[in-house]
Amino acid sequence: MNIETKVKKTIKEYKLCNKKEKVLVALSGGKDSTVTAYLLKKFGYDIEGIHLDLKIGEYSKRCLKAVKKLCEDLDIKLHVYDIKDDMGSGICYLRSAIQLKQKGNLKNCAVCGVIKKWIFNRIARKLYAKKIATGHNLDDEAQTFLMNIFKASPKLSANIGPISRNIQNKKFIPRIKPLFYVLEDDIRDFSKKNKLPVVYEKCPCSLDSYRIQVREFLETLSGKDKQNIIKNFNNISKRIKKDSKIEYCEACQEPSRNRLCKKCELMRV
Ligand code: SF4
Ligand SMILES: [Zn+2]
Repeated sequence: MNIETKVKKTIKEYKLCNKKEKVLVALSGGKDSTVTAYLLKKFGYDIEGIHLDLKIGEYSKRCLKAVKKLCEDLDIKLHVYDIKDDMGSGICYLRSAIQLKQKGNLKNCAVCGVIKKWIFNRIARKLYAKKIATGHNLDDEAQTFLMNIFKASPKLSANIGPISRNIQNKKFIPRIKPLFYVLEDDIRDFSKKNKLPVVYEKCPCSLDSYRIQVREFLETLSGKDKQNIIKNFNNISKRIKKDSKIEYCEACQEPSRNRLCKKCELMRV
């Protein structure tokens, strides 16, 4: 099955989005989110793009340039969020300050991921988007699933799946992953074949050695093996108990399972 058919099937089977609702695509400048936007636009969905300018030196400049080019080429309305304007510093400084406070236990991507999710949810709501689409692919999801097993925390895998299904709250904008069943290599080939403007280099801050180790292990597996990991996840996902209690963060009023949301917990002085 080619990428286009696979993505159409995933959207239909999991009811990811419909053509009457606005979908905000989180565009990083990398191949995955670029292909996500390209396909959703091609299939006729009402999409807009959001790019977070994280201020990671020249890398961020290249990403912004690629995203702008994509949106111009495909006629996609683009929103650019400048983290320095809004939060006072680039992600590297924010992250280091948090890690210092937490005595360095938190990985770069864990900190950055929490902040990005918080920003995306707020912006999507302001723009009246009904879904947030991200570029997560089958390799990413298999990696997360395996890491949760190795950490003996299978409950964390409740977040995995083509659509976020573990949070039901009117202020929470569901996140969708149209590339959930697509292998990373196929996405790379597709983006090159279609000459999409993509930054192929990895983010210089993705230094989580454990994640890299799991990724390297996954690279030794065949596509079929990786698909089987996800099949296994699908078999057990129905049995993962979901925590349904959602309230609001006392500090920012965003949906949260605890008194403070993860972002405010991290940024607390
Ligand atoms: S790779 Fe990690 S540090 Fe870099 S932008 Fe993504 S989440 Fe943030
Ligand atoms: Zn908060």
